[in-house]
Amino acid sequence: MTTFQDLALIKPILLALDKLGYQNPTPIQEQAIPHILKQQDLLGCAQTGTGKTAAFAIPILQLLDAKGPAKQRPNIKALIVTPTRELAIQIDESFSEYGEFLHLKHAVIFGGVNQHAQVQQIRQGIDILTATPGRLLDLIGQKLISLKDIELFVLDEADRMLDMGFIHDVKKIIQLLPHKRQSLFFSATMPKAIQALADTILSKPVKVSVTPESTTAETIQQSLYYVDRSSKYQLLSDLIANEIKDSVLVFTRTKHGADKLVKILNKRELSAMAIHGNKSQNARQNALERFKSKEIQVLVATDLAARGIDIDLLKYVINYEIPNIPESYVHRIGRGGRAGSEGIAISFCDIDEMAYIKDIEKIIGMKIPVVENHNYPMKQLEKKDTKAAAPDRRQSTQPKRNNGMAKAARTKK
Ligand code: AMP
Repeated sequence: MTTFQDLALIKPILLALDKLGYQNPTPIQEQAIPHILKQQDLLGCAQTGTGKTAAFAIPILQLLDAKGPAKQRPNIKALIVTPTRELAIQIDESFSEYGEFLHLKHAVIFGGVNQHAQVQQIRQGIDILTATPGRLLDLIGQKLISLKDIELFVLDEADRMLDMGFIHDVKKIIQLLPHKRQSLFFSATMPKAIQALADTILSKPVKVSVTPESTTAETIQQSLYYVDRSSKYQLLSDLIANEIKDSVLVFTRTKHGADKLVKILNKRELSAMAIHGNKSQNARQNALERFKSKEIQVLVATDLAARGIDIDLLKYVINYEIPNIPESYVHRIGRGGRAGSEGIAISFCDIDEMAYIKDIEKIIGMKIPVVENHNYPMKQLEKKDTKAAAPDRRQSTQPKRNNGMAKAARTKK
């Protein structure tokens, strides 16, 4: 089996990957990284969940590191354009993780928030910028960003750009890039319009395509409880005490929600800890170790904190709160049922989250089986909190989705 050492990666990157617990490259990483390091253009047909972010982030870090410290800071060297704010944040976080032991600077920009902090960060000089198209064009228009020194350009999730109506913005951005550059293009599907776009961006690209190994439907047994938000913790503690009796990874949407849940579980004498972005790396690592060694039974995590955690033989994943990003559902449930064992994913949905379930079922291409007779049936049948449906959803209108994402639940080895 190929290792990261076989891919001729530099020590600081190997160290970071080791720290993250990555053992072997995924197929897209194995295929793409050597070509990108040779400075070739690349056309990657791969979905979220295949490890494609690392497939481009790792070689970009290595290529930029080889150039030494940037002499003239203000201009960005690598640009990654991605359709949603959530993806942008995740990509930027990947650069932090894989580049922890390097001295490259990176930042992320997206719309829907005040630009001040983003601009401040860019002013201090960065090497790698991850951006959504609208905010990027906006800051370019204000002359706060220049693309004239871009050496590496990544277009991520190109088919979704098209679905979300960003293609025009993408074309404008491409016009502003230097002619001489290395370009990487990723898309889950390759319809004609996307292929045509790729042709305008890439020069003699290497083509890499991965088909995820397993689908959500095949390897993970899923179920859905409709339950009021106020009854969720009771349902959770009953399930853990009476049915699960094993390690369980529980997902909440927010850091605050994760902490609150841990407190409740601890009160009911269930051993639980939380991992999320407000916890230090040490605290996260500690919680993870204790969970792996079965010292604690329940690990409560937010989506971002759970990225990269690899727990062999974990069977149960509970979506205590339904993710508002459908792909997160696929990522979350893919944490269970590793190494060929069967995973069980249980989701708790309250009235405010029903729309999220619809989105999820669209991308996984199936209905999640509903548990009908349970002890905490939903009583609240009208939406109380419209906020739950509103915050940090995708930036634009609801995108048209393709069912191809059904295959995104490839589990990592
Ligand atoms: P992506 O497809 O880039 O969204 O990645 C999906 C998930 O896989 C992320 O949570 C990554 O942290 C994780 N991941 C990526 N590459 C590896 C690897 N080689 N080994 C273990 N986990 C990985």
